[in-house]
Amino acid sequence: MIPVNEPLLDGNEKRYLSECIDSGWISSEGPFVREFEERFARTVGRRHAVAVANGSLALDAAVTALGLGPGDEVILPTFTIISCAAPIVRAGATPVVVDCDPATWNMDVEQVAARITPRTRAIMVVHIYGLPVDMAPIEELARRHGLKIIEDAAEVHGQTYRGRPCGSFGDISTFSFYPNKHVTTGEGGMLVTDSDALAEHCRKLRNLAFMPPRRFVHDELGWNMRMTNLQAALGVAQLERFDEFLRRKRAMGRRYDAALSGTHGLQLPLPRNDDAENIYWVYGVVLHDDIDFDAEEAMRRLGAMGVGCRPFFWPMHEQPVFRSRGLFANDSHPVAERIARRGFYVPSGLALTHDQIDTVAAALRDLVR
Ligand SMILES: *Cc1c(COP(=O)(O)O)cnc(C)c1O
Repeated sequence: MIPVNEPLLDGNEKRYLSECIDSGWISSEGPFVREFEERFARTVGRRHAVAVANGSLALDAAVTALGLGPGDEVILPTFTIISCAAPIVRAGATPVVVDCDPATWNMDVEQVAARITPRTRAIMVVHIYGLPVDMAPIEELARRHGLKIIEDAAEVHGQTYRGRPCGSFGDISTFSFYPNKHVTTGEGGMLVTDSDALAEHCRKLRNLAFMPPRRFVHDELGWNMRMTNLQAALGVAQLERFDEFLRRKRAMGRRYDAALSGTHGLQLPLPRNDDAENIYWVYGVVLHDDIDFDAEEAMRRLGAMGVGCRPFFWPMHEQPVFRSRGLFANDSHPVAERIARRGFYVPSGLALTHDQIDTVAAALRDLVR
């Protein structure tokens, strides 16, 4: 079986983990946490980085630090992971979703403009699968209407938009270090910002909102979302190989493209657009409408051929947990609805070999023959 994701952990990971154990520094108080934050901030050109337990909680902290709450609307893509919408709902604010572009699968920026109301407070941008969202019109809308930007850059660490790093656009930007991300700490996440005040607020929220001068007295509710020294040790080792990892991702995408171009029945990822070269966080494909089975059946057949796959996201406006709360009652977003049913991604991890890519590509060609 070719797994859908296998991370690369053969650099200094073991050595730095041993240092944690030998020194006894295993909690969030250890020195690797600060080092990881500082090195990470440099990879995206930010003044501050705050390491947290995972990328989902990073979004909770971002929504809370920006003061979003009841009566506030936040615009985000429907085609994303629930980690984006859940913090908005938990904060008591209202998620407003837009459809995505059929070629890049990123949020449709014209629809963002159309959904702005006097209650809109923020736009949550999510870069999907490897190409960046068109940020220029988003920034212009934010300026014109006085909106905050939260940028979920979990899938595009190392990507740029017109030469500027993804993760440098939001008032707060967030990352994940789950094992299928470009840098992994097992579980982990990061908030980055240029604002001293927002960074300090995120640090407070990360640590149960303890505050000076009297520990155990609180003026707001935080979380324990601290990253451990063990996780950060992995992160530092991973960042040492960051450039190599990005080269591997792009080489993987190019090899899939070469093996699959011209295959009838499959929409492939766009290799590039005006703003960026695809970084192929995952290699996603969408079945053409004339293929007489859907993504679920395709993944079942590929599984039988020894190829591990995962489905595309399921749209937020079709989530039972939100519909049962009365959210998105009149929404229909046909592009996201279609690709959720016809899209899936194939093995895309950093440990994937050229031979494995060729095997997966042959299985895909077989599938749609
Ligand atoms: C992976 C991912 C997350 C969630 O990160 P976790 O660390 O798994 O909680 C959030 N947003 C996007 C876009 C992701 O790809």
